[in-house]
Amino acid sequence: GSTLIIKDLHVEIEGKEILKGVNLEVKSGEFHAIMGPNGTGKSTLSSAIMGHPKYTVTKGSITLDGKDVLEMEVDERARAGLFLAMQYPSEISGVTNADFLRSAINSKRGEGNEVSLMKFIRELDKQMEFLEMDLDMAQRYLNEGFSGGEKKRNEILQLMMLKPAFAILDEIDSGLDIDALKIVSKGINEMRSSDFSCIMITHYQRLLNYITPDFVHVMMQGRVVKSGGPELAQRLEAEGYDWIKQELGIED
Ligand code: ADP
Ligand code: MG
Ligand code: MG
Repeated sequence: GSTLIIKDLHVEIEGKEILKGVNLEVKSGEFHAIMGPNGTGKSTLSSAIMGHPKYTVTKGSITLDGKDVLEMEVDERARAGLFLAMQYPSEISGVTNADFLRSAINSKRGEGNEVSLMKFIRELDKQMEFLEMDLDMAQRYLNEGFSGGEKKRNEILQLMMLKPAFAILDEIDSGLDIDALKIVSKGINEMRSSDFSCIMITHYQRLLNYITPDFVHVMMQGRVVKSGGPELAQRLEAEGYDWIKQELGIED
């Protein structure tokens, strides 16, 4: 098993401090949900973990099995087992979805250890069927003209094909209708194993009706201010965030 440890993480964007001391520990096999009002730094946290160049870590540490993640380049982070599904997945012109996936898998496996084309296609077909995706999607250019729901479903396909050790899913549920949400959830649940852990960032409790997290964390004003089990998400759904603000004496 592996463990991701975030300690006292401070992150700035363009000179403005957004994360003000985030602490979080995720062990392999665990599913964590991070909730919180808009603008509290949830996406900043996921971008900092993945090494987005716009985000400057000014203090604190991120380690994966004791290895310093902050020292790693973005591609090294992916090879170390981190996977990020973005809130706004980007288009990459001229690369088909299947080609993108195969090269991502091969770059993770390393030179001389590439997956055979036959094996890749078999696995791709199997996972696309599982996610009830149109097989044409494999030959379309990555994210070009994909609907919001198709993009999200495609990210789960990437997850299932790449089988990372850690996934950070930022608002994977946003903009999904109920059928798409069920399929996306089915894919994430299928990943559950002792070698896989997941951080799900979401505004809404709805996703957590389909994927039961082991831990729920609330972020506010750049910090994790409260942690608990699935019941915490239910209380947030029923009562909003005001009671936490009152408990902690946070002003709006
Ligand atoms: P959340 O995901 O919780 O909604 P974000 O991490 O997206 O919050 O944003 C946290 C804060 O950082 C917000 O005040 C937002 O305006 C600011 N912010 C995020 N990205 C940028 C950026 N690229 N440039 C400047 N400010 C940013
Ligand atoms: Mg936001
Ligand atoms: Mg966000």
